[in-house]
Amino acid sequence: MDNRGWHLQPDGLATIPAEKACPRIIVHVDMDSFYASVEVRHRPELAGKPVVIGADPGKGPGRGVVLTCSYEARKFGVHSALPVTRAFELCPEAIFLPPRHELYQETSGRVMDILEGYEDRFQQVSIDEAYLDITSCGGYAAATEIARKIKQDIFRQEHLTCSIGVAPGKSTAKVASDFEKPGGLVVVTPERAREFLSPLPVEKIPGIGPKTAASLRAMGIRTIGSLAEADVQELMGIFGRAAAAVRDLARGVDDDEVRGSSSAKSISREQTFCPDCDDPGEVMNTLLSLSDELCRELRGVRAYARTVTVKVRYPDFSTTTRAQTLPRPTHEPRHIRKAVLELGLPLVRQQKVRLAGVRLSSLVARDNRQKTIEDFSK
Ligand SMILES: [Mg+2]
Repeated sequence: MDNRGWHLQPDGLATIPAEKACPRIIVHVDMDSFYASVEVRHRPELAGKPVVIGADPGKGPGRGVVLTCSYEARKFGVHSALPVTRAFELCPEAIFLPPRHELYQETSGRVMDILEGYEDRFQQVSIDEAYLDITSCGGYAAATEIARKIKQDIFRQEHLTCSIGVAPGKSTAKVASDFEKPGGLVVVTPERAREFLSPLPVEKIPGIGPKTAASLRAMGIRTIGSLAEADVQELMGIFGRAAAAVRDLARGVDDDEVRGSSSAKSISREQTFCPDCDDPGEVMNTLLSLSDELCRELRGVRAYARTVTVKVRYPDFSTTTRAQTLPRPTHEPRHIRKAVLELGLPLVRQQKVRLAGVRLSSLVARDNRQKTIEDFSK
């Protein structure tokens, strides 16, 4: 992959000053043309063609806007938020499809389960975007490997591609994930953040829209580099009290934390085998007893789980997670066990295992669980 000089340099971390010895490592994952890619996955005959998700322009003028479109359609100048009639003028041969929101939600849920399996400090920010704080992995070299594995896992399990940015703050990580779309992996180490951001136009900073960018241009500020050097007093005319914080973003300084949402609550148990275990039966028994422990814990806090995830790490430290969303929230050991068996068996066959784990997520409190016919017929 083209690294354009921004990826980790072999000696990169050695140059970090002592007081910045523990920079944060934030990952931003953004699915590539998400709705369009999900449609193409379900209709392979659309692969390589311009696909536009939005209302059908043939059904009347001016109806609705483009929600998303494939990269093939972007080559014609089509982009999201464009009126579909305009998209039709630019690219009449495009395939226009109505959105299937339920399908996208479902797919998003599984992608987010994969990401949450990597790190508890996880924040979903939209249907197809999330941040992870993986500082605990120890360094940018390890972080680069994790980012690669995330891409592989999402592709293997969902047949979808994503772009990932790795940087010391959320804002720069998001700029980085956008830098080589689609399919990009851009790692910006702390000491390179400013150099990376500097030549880019100001509107690349998340939150700076076309209007703000026009105001900045009127002040002679076009690039993030010149924003980083601008006078705070002058910037206050545009950003008010946020001026200093915006200038910090342009300097690659961003302390905003990755906040887990309450819906991301989960409980998990793992076991490391020492030495590595080459008996699939033993690994499965371990997974089942971990899941029974978790069910007891759920009962203890009067909660139910909707999603079951099995995680298996192999001797080379590669990790695979598989998740299943249950038809309804439960804490019944037999339902959870069934999911664990289905998810775990394909992962442990004919392979040595270093670690195995179960996670229960999308937890709901007993009182919040919607009653179903089954509850009444028990
Ligand atoms: Mg996206």
